[in-house]
Amino acid sequence: MTKTRIGTWNGVPVYTDFLPFGTRRTGQRLDSGNPKFAVFHDTGNPNSTAQNNVDYYRNTYNIGWDATASAHIFVDDKEAIICIPVTEKAWHVLYNTPIDNAWYGDDANDIAFGLEACYFSDRQRTLKSLDNSCRIMAALCNSWGINPRNQMPGHQDIQYDKQDPGNILAAAGYGRRDMSVIDNLVVKYMNGDAPVKKIAPTVKTPVQGKPLQTIWAWEGTFTAHKTNTLPITVYREFGLDKQQVDEDSFINAGEYVTFDQIIKDVKNGYWWIRFKYAADGANKKDYFYMPIGKITDKQEKIKNEKELWGSIEWA
Ligand SMILES: [Zn+2]
Repeated sequence: MTKTRIGTWNGVPVYTDFLPFGTRRTGQRLDSGNPKFAVFHDTGNPNSTAQNNVDYYRNTYNIGWDATASAHIFVDDKEAIICIPVTEKAWHVLYNTPIDNAWYGDDANDIAFGLEACYFSDRQRTLKSLDNSCRIMAALCNSWGINPRNQMPGHQDIQYDKQDPGNILAAAGYGRRDMSVIDNLVVKYMNGDAPVKKIAPTVKTPVQGKPLQTIWAWEGTFTAHKTNTLPITVYREFGLDKQQVDEDSFINAGEYVTFDQIIKDVKNGYWWIRFKYAADGANKKDYFYMPIGKITDKQEKIKNEKELWGSIEWA
C-alpha cells in the first residue's frame, strides 16, 4: 500500500495511504454501509503531522485489541491523508460511551467516520491545519449528506473524558469548547467541492473483532477494608500518572464512596472506580478516580475478584 494523490478538495491535497489489515483497520464495513455522521477530533499529540500519525498507525497496525484505536483521516497544514476508507469501521470513540447511541442511534465506530486534525505550538500552523481540516470535512459532508450543525459532534461532545478538538481550538486561540468555530468554517466551505463518492470495495474477509470494553457504567458503593494499613490514593483523572488529590482526601480504612463507573486499567493491571465524595464538607461536585485493587481474576471479571482493597455493594 502506497501513498497516492487522489485529488484536491477545497484547495487541500488529498492522499490515500491505506493501512494494512489488522486491528486498527479491519476492513469491516460500517453497519450503516455509508457514514451517517462524522466526529471531529484532534490528535491530542501536538506537533505531530498527518504523515507522522499515519506512519505510527502503520508501525502498530496490529496492536492488541486492548490498546487499539484508529481514525479515518488525518489533516495538517499541508495535506490530508486517508488511512482507512470512510465506509469502513475505525475505533475513534469509546464503545461504552452512551451519548452517540442516544443522539444517533448507534455507536460512532459502527456508523460514523472520524477526522483527526493536527495542531502545533506554532499558532499560524495550527490555524492553517484547522482551516484545512474544515475544508476536508466540508467536502466529505457534501459527499455523504452530513449536516455539520447537528451531525458532526466534536469527540469531547460525545465522550466526556476527552479534550478534543478542544486542544486544536485552544492552540488556535479559541475557546476549548467553541465548536461553532469549526461548524461555521465547515459550513462555509460546503459551498465548494463535493468529491464524487468513492465507495471502497467491500473487503471480502475482514478481520473480525472490536476493541475490548474497559469502562462499565456500573454503580455501587465501595467501602475500604477496615484492615487496610495504607489509605487509597485518589486521582483527579483516570491514570496512575495523573494528578493526585491532597493526602488528607485519600480514602482511609473503613471509608466509603459511591461510584458510577468501573474502569479496567489494562496497562497497569488495576481496577478503578469513578466516584464522588460522600463526606460532609467534601467536594461533591467533581468526579474523582482511584484504583481499588489488582486485576487477579483469570477471566478478568471484577465481580469475581476476591482481593480488592474494599468491599463493593452493587447498586
Ligand atoms: Zn478524539
